[in-house]
Amino acid sequence: MKNIILLGPPGAGKGTQAKRLEEARGMVQLSTGDMLKEAIAKGTDLGRRVEGIMARGELVTDEIVIGLIEARMSDGARGGFIFDGFPRTLKQADALGELLSRTGQSLDAVIEMQVDDAALVARVTGRFTCGNCGAVYHDVTHPTRVAGVCDACGSTNMKRRADDNEETLKTRLMEYYKKTSPLIGYYHAKGQLSAVDGLADVEVVADAIAKVLDKG
Ligand code: ADP
Ligand code: AMP
Repeated sequence: MKNIILLGPPGAGKGTQAKRLEEARGMVQLSTGDMLKEAIAKGTDLGRRVEGIMARGELVTDEIVIGLIEARMSDGARGGFIFDGFPRTLKQADALGELLSRTGQSLDAVIEMQVDDAALVARVTGRFTCGNCGAVYHDVTHPTRVAGVCDACGSTNMKRRADDNEETLKTRLMEYYKKTSPLIGYYHAKGQLSAVDGLADVEVVADAIAKVLDKG
């Protein structure tokens, strides 16, 4: 069993690779972004509290996301967890470390997905997902086989994110560089960091991640 973090800016390909790892290895994706979007869609108190913050591309508070992760981790995952979009601050990284050690688990790898900012605009503005199963597509690099129909589950309920526009991406990237990129040094210092080229084809990135996972 392996617990891993996928670390990288918005659009780096974390969700795409997390879904593949779930299928290939029986791992469980824990995406705080997806959990928060679900809360908004359901119109819960939490959803109402975070809606404006997310629309602006800012980070929600550490307490909120740590609470979400703690609740989901208690369900356990036989194949290991893929932390996607969490941790995003040093405080969240410390909290994750504590949660794992309290439950007798380890963090086996932190995979930094390296991409350049220029590629991210195209990645994010072309992104759409299946509202039923969460499969991730792209207008140019990964369209559905039949227009408007999910390859994985056949649903025609395709969604685009409100925050996937060039303007909000600027704020999201600024948040990433200010608050999340220090985690690269944090995990490097602990000897847990491996970097992969996130600009390569999806399959090539998947192979690079598999190598990291099978190494130790
Ligand atoms: P993240 O979860 O890091 O925000 P996603 O996995 O949602 O990123 O990917 C962002 C967009 O880029 C999606 O539209 C996805 O289809 C596309 N994408 C992901 N990985 C690649 C890749 N290696 N090459 C080209 N496009 C990709
Ligand atoms: P994502 O789907 O990972 O791109 O996240 C979408 C949005 O949810 C982000 O822009 C933040 O507003 C919020 N969010 C997701 N995960 C976190 C986190 N770990 N810490 C703070 N905010 C988060």
